[in-house]
Amino acid sequence: MIGEAVRSGARGEFGALVPIRPAVKKTEKCLRGHWLTLDLYDKLAPFSQRYRLHGWLCEVCRGQEVCDPEARRLAEWALLDVTAQHAPDAAPGGGLVLVAYPPATGTLVGRIALHLDGTEVGTVTASPCGRCRMATLDYVHVAAEYRRLGFGRTLVAAAVARAPSYRWTAPLPDGPVAQSFRARIAMRRAGLSCVHAGVLERG
Ligand SMILES: [Zn+2]
Ligand SMILES: [Zn+2]
Repeated sequence: MIGEAVRSGARGEFGALVPIRPAVKKTEKCLRGHWLTLDLYDKLAPFSQRYRLHGWLCEVCRGQEVCDPEARRLAEWALLDVTAQHAPDAAPGGGLVLVAYPPATGTLVGRIALHLDGTEVGTVTASPCGRCRMATLDYVHVAAEYRRLGFGRTLVAAAVARAPSYRWTAPLPDGPVAQSFRARIAMRRAGLSCVHAGVLERG
């Protein structure tokens, strides 16, 4: 029991949360754009105990952040495989994991949540239509204390990973923070809308 309590990181034993990014086959640059592939420095691949994920650490950024304590903490980041999405009743209770909830009967809207140690910290909803081969990104939300860590963009990547060949669109939200996030997602606004949404069972 003690081991589990300590591992939870609830009291900050593992330090500040590091950013996350969707896992890619080959990581070429750090989050500040420093090349990692030129053998300028040793490559460090730390394991995040907090997330239970592998990641990278940029030595250049670490040096910079040591000199400037006010700088954002971007030296280390963890990688999440966005294709690894667990069923709600089979999701691991520890670390950072994606949980996929299927569409409610009669709708196309599916939901994917990001869980940290079994607690939901972010969510995305999307409406893919197999007949139109179109999908709409409906809603992205990340709990306030977990923002600016890449959770939102990772949730978007997880939604797209379920239908990567579809034509994806997203609405324009209200407010400067939401619009700043939205403008970094390479999706157009919805043009023609899917006529099947909500009539899946009858159609
Ligand atoms: Zn760097
Ligand atoms: Zn449709």
